[in-house]
Amino acid sequence: MAKLVQKFGGTSVRDVERIKAVALRVKGAVDAGNQVAVTVSAMAGVTNQLVDHAANVSTLHDAREFDVVVSSGEQVTSGLLAMALQDLGVSARSWLGWQIPVWTDSVHGRARIREIEDTELNRRLESGEVAVIAGFQGLGSDNRITTLGRGGSDTTAVALAAALKADRCDIYTDVSGVYTTDPRIVPKARKLHSITYEEMLEMASVGAKVLQTRSVELAMKYGVRLQVLSSFDTVPGTMVVGEDEIMEHEVISGVTYSRDEAKITLLRVADRPGVAASIFGPLADASINVDMIVQNISEKGDATDLTFTVSEADLEHAVSVIQTHRDAISYEDLLWDPNVVKVSVIGVGMRSHAGIAQRMFQTLADKGINIQVISTSEIKVSVLIEEAYTELAVRALHTAYDLDAR
Ligand code: ASP
Ligand code: MG
Repeated sequence: MAKLVQKFGGTSVRDVERIKAVALRVKGAVDAGNQVAVTVSAMAGVTNQLVDHAANVSTLHDAREFDVVVSSGEQVTSGLLAMALQDLGVSARSWLGWQIPVWTDSVHGRARIREIEDTELNRRLESGEVAVIAGFQGLGSDNRITTLGRGGSDTTAVALAAALKADRCDIYTDVSGVYTTDPRIVPKARKLHSITYEEMLEMASVGAKVLQTRSVELAMKYGVRLQVLSSFDTVPGTMVVGEDEIMEHEVISGVTYSRDEAKITLLRVADRPGVAASIFGPLADASINVDMIVQNISEKGDATDLTFTVSEADLEHAVSVIQTHRDAISYEDLLWDPNVVKVSVIGVGMRSHAGIAQRMFQTLADKGINIQVISTSEIKVSVLIEEAYTELAVRALHTAYDLDAR
């Protein structure tokens, strides 16, 4: 018997049939003797529709009213799931963010959770009642409904699990776990049995969008044991846990890629103090995130080339910011290229194994793929390559690190 938080995402509650199937699954956990709190998303597509409605009524809408509108999808699914459970003879009650309350700050549209009132919830769970909690929403310090940012019901689930000191937080979705790479590109991709919080964070930051990043940060901070699994089958998923829980770790746990990258190069930038600040300052002021950066040493100590990447959506804007500041930066030429992809290998095993980066470089070299930019962290090596080589590179690396399913 355990205390569980179960979260069901949009595709898992996309229609009434699916909601009934979810109810059966929750009943199974209750019948097994567990205390269960459930968090739900809105039905698939509903939040997008609500966001559109808001934009169509008023482009400069009040953020407080925006939250009133977009939080409503979760109200519907929490009520429907509570009904479906009651129909199966399971004692259940729905809870909106303000009824618990899930206290947040008052940054509407992307509020952060401050505290969850757990006394009454715990009392109900102990009495055998299932709590069905609307995800994604909270109550701001201004006493109005807030939302946690897109994908925020993951964060609701983890915060609840932390507050209730749950034994596990199960995130039900439409994939059966976290894979060694994208199965659409590499048919031999394997589902991981377990992965550390840190690896999951790195994976999320480079394009594997299984969990909202904030929810993983929160899980790591409070040591919430997460499981990512499918609501469409009954096989175990992937556990996201602390490093100490994983007995024998693979050196590399995943190969990821992000096509949403664009490269900008400044040729012959003056090589003097303050130049990097003169480039990246205006970009930061324009809220443009810069990812990888390389700067060459200058031949005669006067000028150097500088390359960096931004997201593809920011490319045009970034180029125009640099052009606007041409005089202050002083460069000879400006080049850009959206046809690049960032490929990364991730694994905590890198800390204790030498030669991981070298294997990556050799593998790409063997395939004749040129590396344009390299960046590393303690548990990740990323390279920027031409986008046309994405599949080839990912497959070759997956094999080179011995990740292929046998
Ligand atoms: N319904 C919200 C969204 O679509 C929250 C969530 O599903 O996590 O972003
Ligand atoms: Mg989601």
